[in-house]
Amino acid sequence: MKIDKSLFHPDYKPEPYWWEAARPGTEHAADLPAVTEIFIVGSGYAGLSAALELARQGRDVTVVDALAFGEGASSRNGGGVSAGINLGKGISGTPGQSERGEDHNRMVEGLLGESLAAYQLVQTLIEREGIECHFERRGRFVGAYSKAHLPGLVEKAAFLNRLLDLDASVISREQQRSEIGSDFYHGGLVINRAGKLHPSLFHKGLLDACHRAGVTLCAHTQVLAIEGALGGFTIKTKGQATGGDCRAEQVIIATNAYTGALTPKLRNRLVPISSQIIVTEALPEDLARELIPNGRTISETPRVTSYYRLLPGDRRVMYGGRARFHDVPPEVSATVLHAMMTERWPQLKGARITHSWSGLVAMTTDALPHMGKEDGLHYCIGCNGSGVAMMTYLGQQVARRILQDDRTDSGYGELAFPGVPVPFYRGKPWFLRVVGEYYRYLDRKDRRATGG
Ligand SMILES: Cc1cc2nc3c(=O)[nH]c(=O)nc-3n(C[C@H](O)[C@H](O)[C@H](O)COP(=O)(O)OP(=O)(O)OC[C@H]3O[C@@H](n4cnc5c(N)ncnc54)[C@H](O)[C@@H]3O)c2cc1C
Repeated sequence: MKIDKSLFHPDYKPEPYWWEAARPGTEHAADLPAVTEIFIVGSGYAGLSAALELARQGRDVTVVDALAFGEGASSRNGGGVSAGINLGKGISGTPGQSERGEDHNRMVEGLLGESLAAYQLVQTLIEREGIECHFERRGRFVGAYSKAHLPGLVEKAAFLNRLLDLDASVISREQQRSEIGSDFYHGGLVINRAGKLHPSLFHKGLLDACHRAGVTLCAHTQVLAIEGALGGFTIKTKGQATGGDCRAEQVIIATNAYTGALTPKLRNRLVPISSQIIVTEALPEDLARELIPNGRTISETPRVTSYYRLLPGDRRVMYGGRARFHDVPPEVSATVLHAMMTERWPQLKGARITHSWSGLVAMTTDALPHMGKEDGLHYCIGCNGSGVAMMTYLGQQVARRILQDDRTDSGYGELAFPGVPVPFYRGKPWFLRVVGEYYRYLDRKDRRATGG
């Protein structure tokens, strides 16, 4: 693909914009201890949230990460914080819901209730730990990509209000300029109970809180193998500065889309997908205000979706989505995302890109996140692209399961966790390019069928 250099600002960087404020690093890093009570693999939101809950109850906890702290998805995401709206496509207010029986509906209500608890947990942690991360409760707008999607949003609004009290309503295409400076959508869903934050500052706040609570934190320490059984694990690691063996009574796997050969049974139930983001230079104030007048996060209804927002300060746009379904240089994905952005906002044709990056999200077959126990190892994985609140919550729930002698109050710990139904699948989604482009084709067809 030909790269148009004029799209890029002279100060362009192929790394997350968020790292300007908080770069993943090794602050608070310690040497790997020989013995710990609970060993956590992964220093993203899930691992740190679990560690914090356990350490606050007086447990001896060690968190390790193969990379710098938070260098996985937790310092790369879009920072949208929501309750329920993104939960499994099979449960979240889809037609047919009411015909699936009482037990199913009770389970759905429980899971959705927990998604609201997840949203509230983020607020609680921010307040309790004094985390300064630009958390703003300004709501979300979900644009109808095709006219045919609007009735589904009306149904969804009723469902979300009934079960979660999300203060959701649907607006028409004629009304949508009150939410977005664009005529691209056929109306959409406005959800008042949703928010946004600065992802790597939120992560840094959790890391600092873990340090204060006495968690041992080890960066650049890759776990190679876990031997033994519950009550007596030996964890084998390789590290830049620190490494070797550590013995632990319990282990939590919090590796989400970065789950690898360490836990093949978990890896084989996840499809890691790259999600890419660009950020624009600061825009004139009145232009930026016109783009998203109420400062909401924006998402949309097609199978292959984009998500976007204004950054703290309300002058720059962050635009994220699936530019490509295979690895490409950040300048290629940036060029594609810029075209997608200007399709929605033609007024941004001249806005130059200052940052572009990608990260991995973990999809599951049932589009739900999961927590549980496999071969004696606790885990919480499978964010499906929406884990700021949910993975923070599931980390806490895994910790509570350990504190409550293996009992869990969470419905996510009760769900069956299906594998990816592709023969010989080993965590490398070779089929993604074909499936992804097919979905994109179906999206375009849906849109054309109702007049673009
Ligand atoms: C581009 C992008 C945009 C997103 N936007 C949003 C959004 O707007 N809203 C939202 O809610 N969610 C969003 N998400 C999802 C969200 O970022 C994730 O769900 C969340 O960060 C997952 O946190 P985690 O702790 O489970 O995993 P991660 O933060 O990914 O951490 C897992 C860690 O495990 C480590 N690890 C793996 N294997 C090993 C090993 N063997 N030894 C040691 N360490 C290991 C990795 O190095 C990694 O740091 C987005 C994700 C991406 C990538």
